Amino acid sequence: MHLIVAEKNISARRIAEILSEGKKLTEHRDAGVSTYSFGDITTVGLRGHVVEIDFEPGYQNWRSEEYTPRSLIDARTIKVPTEKRIVSLLQKLARKADRVTIATDFDTEGELIGKEAFELVRAVNAKVLIDRARFSAITKQELQHAFANTTELDFALAAAGEARQSIDLMWGASLTRFISLAARRGGQNILSVGRVQSPTLGMIVDREKEIEAFVPETYWQVALETGKSGEQIEARHTHGRFHNKAEAEGARDRTRDPLLVTEVKEGTKQDRAPSPFDTTTYIVAAARLGLSAANAMRIAEDLYMNGFISYPRTDNTVYPPSLDIDGILKTLRGSPFRKDVEWTIANRRPLPTRGKKSSTDHPPIHPTGAGTREQLGDDAFKVYELVLRRFLATLAPDAQWKTLKILFGAGGEEYTTTGGQLTEPGWHTVYPFSEAKEVILPVFVTGEKLPIKKVTLDEKETQPPARYTQSKLIQRMEELGLGTKSTRHEVIAKLVSRKYVEGNPLRPTLVGRVVTESLEQHADAVTRPDMTQTIEAHMQQIKEKTRTREDVIRESREMLHAAFDQLEANEQVIGDDIRNRTAEEMNLGKCPVCGGMLAIKHLRGNTQFIGCSRYPECTFNIGLPMAQWGFAVRTDDICDKHHLNFVRLVRKGARPWDIGCPLCHHISSNRESLAEMPSMTPALADTLLASHIYTVAELARSTPEGLAKRLCLPAADAARLVTEAGTMLEKLRRRSECRKFLRDRLIPRKGRSYAKIMEALKGQGITELAALAHAEPGALKNAGIGDAEAGQVLADAKTVYYGQVLREMGIPAVSLKKYLAAGFITPDTFCDLKPETLSERTGMSLGTVQKHVALVCKALNKPAPAKVSKVQSEKGRKELLTIKGLGEQTAEKLILAGIPDRKSLLAADPAAVAAATGIAVQKIRDYQSVLRKKKEIIQL
Ligand SMILES: [Zn+2]
Ligand SMILES: [Zn+2]
Repeated sequence: MHLIVAEKNISARRIAEILSEGKKLTEHRDAGVSTYSFGDITTVGLRGHVVEIDFEPGYQNWRSEEYTPRSLIDARTIKVPTEKRIVSLLQKLARKADRVTIATDFDTEGELIGKEAFELVRAVNAKVLIDRARFSAITKQELQHAFANTTELDFALAAAGEARQSIDLMWGASLTRFISLAARRGGQNILSVGRVQSPTLGMIVDREKEIEAFVPETYWQVALETGKSGEQIEARHTHGRFHNKAEAEGARDRTRDPLLVTEVKEGTKQDRAPSPFDTTTYIVAAARLGLSAANAMRIAEDLYMNGFISYPRTDNTVYPPSLDIDGILKTLRGSPFRKDVEWTIANRRPLPTRGKKSSTDHPPIHPTGAGTREQLGDDAFKVYELVLRRFLATLAPDAQWKTLKILFGAGGEEYTTTGGQLTEPGWHTVYPFSEAKEVILPVFVTGEKLPIKKVTLDEKETQPPARYTQSKLIQRMEELGLGTKSTRHEVIAKLVSRKYVEGNPLRPTLVGRVVTESLEQHADAVTRPDMTQTIEAHMQQIKEKTRTREDVIRESREMLHAAFDQLEANEQVIGDDIRNRTAEEMNLGKCPVCGGMLAIKHLRGNTQFIGCSRYPECTFNIGLPMAQWGFAVRTDDICDKHHLNFVRLVRKGARPWDIGCPLCHHISSNRESLAEMPSMTPALADTLLASHIYTVAELARSTPEGLAKRLCLPAADAARLVTEAGTMLEKLRRRSECRKFLRDRLIPRKGRSYAKIMEALKGQGITELAALAHAEPGALKNAGIGDAEAGQVLADAKTVYYGQVLREMGIPAVSLKKYLAAGFITPDTFCDLKPETLSERTGMSLGTVQKHVALVCKALNKPAPAKVSKVQSEKGRKELLTIKGLGEQTAEKLILAGIPDRKSLLAADPAAVAAATGIAVQKIRDYQSVLRKKKEIIQL
């Protein structure tokens, strides 16, 4: 069998579809992984990397004394499978294969993924032939050529990838751990540091500082307005910017009619067709269409996988001679852009344009197949059109402009205006995405006189440098050698997800800035681009086999150790600095009660709340959901009414939960329960808010005297309010207990929400456990709980609720457990059954049970079952023993079950007695019939 290993499932399928050519293609699924077979060939897709490198065991504990952050630099690494099912299927197939072709993406990352597959295959099959197919587009022509001309895996290229992986892990892990520990941050709050990430963030922070330090300068511009042939024309003073106002005013005042045309300069300008797309220029062009860098790459990769465009990760801007441009044009005739393709074919330039960079791995990004909007969807089609039109533009002739520059004189002052007209549209015909605009001027003749309609003097200010947009940043990263064409957009996405930068254009957050500045101050090697550039250069040397992977990693270790020498010496300072400066990011604004500072507080164990800086003098606080529902952070929005920053809960992989203004939220979530208190009126509710009392709990905690004073209320009213609040608080506690009870028992399921169930139960008057314990199954069903689940919930509710009731009546927890286990759940049972029965069934002594029965019956206000004296009980026993066939043992059982004499035996329900004693029902009936006969004689 010939096994082909592709980088992803979708490419495995496409390769099989293309290579099978009429042969029957079958798909098999094995543990969720697909393979595609035709003839003797089977293709299987990986999921990118199926193994990852990690440190040897022991390094996982952040607080380990032995394995310090620095020790991670020299830690040994191991490869661990991350996609176990794919790994085991690959090895299963490899055992049977007599040829394996690695067909992963054709770049450093793809070569490394290929090497990982190579090692997995070799581990189970030492002899199989393994070769490598390289292609830049998943098209018939490319694939056929690649599989007919396979080569060997490029181990040097893979080694460069491996070196990068090791170095990134070592830098990222050791520095992240060091900084986070120094700043005492853990969990979702760690401060990540990375080899490429930190210098990139450094650039954004530097730009922000330039903007802040920028002092705008005022300047003046003089212009005039004239007209010809009904068209308005603006001419600028040739002096340009005036830095002196008086000079500008002088120029303006000297400008006098008439406006004389002193010179007409005509010219032509060649407008070169654009060069082919590499990754960076593609991202920049896609940004103009409104796509973020990460989105642009994701869509391009998708188009590549589906055979519509070539591999989008490339540094090359020169089409290789082997590229079949005629063939591509022929294919593109089948696209919706046929007209433009035909035009290009008819007007083709002799040689396609070329950019500055030529490399041998991939051609520039170009279209490879014909696609329609229906096939691709709107966004992908937009990208496809961009790539296709760019390709056409690189084959189209240059454009020609006619340029016009007119010079005017007016009272000795010189003015000018310029125009441009596209005489040969050339490539603009097929590529409408460029910014070039025509300005068509009327015809002017030297010596001509024109009227001056208006002279203007504008005061302007110089502008600070602009913040980086994503695409500008990617361009700048490329210039500085930061990251690679494949990783740059990912690095930016990471900075955003780690909340180091925000917005577009990008600006640093407070944390992003503080971490950068701390590192700059104490270990600037980490934030300087040159360190990263050095490593990129080393990667190149590995690829060219002039250096080994080990040698490069060793040098990187030395660089990192040097950084740690500085960092460790300043650990305390760095930690304090970051902590002090980032505390601000949790501040929300003034405490409504005391004017202190309200801030989000995160405690251990996922607890978070909003508290006041003047605690314990000020106890104002606002509760927040536990951190597993989302880590609370502040946002830039501010409440108009309370002047507090909004709060948001963020959770990985979930939509953020916006709390909004925490005080508005606090007020609205307590409004209903306050309103439920009997003596609450809207006016009183307003008074409470004005006095900064927001919750029932605060009212319940108040003393009547204190409250009377605070609210200016009569003492009696205040006292009543405190009492009512106490009752309400108890009710709220019971409601929340009921909610928790249900939440613990109802299994989360798609399409049902707890909130809806609670609301439906509330509508039926069920908000507390007591009501739930007595509810009908129908009520639960109405709320959307299924039959089986409802039965279980009700049974549980009874146990929990009556358990609480019995505990309150004084039954100790240990005994309660025994009663519940024996099935005695309701308090009524205690008064209705004989204590002897309870005693026997629970295994507790009769004395203890009688004590409990007395407690319960007293609480229920019911008579306790009469105690039986010793003499009486002896008498009863003797009576029972007179019955024919009733022996000592049976008598004992009956007495324990609460049947102490003949009279009660006659009155008892045989089934119940049988159940309580284990004596056969028929036997009891027999005893009763004997007694009935006797009754006639002895008048019981
Ligand atoms: Zn306060
Ligand atoms: Zn508010």
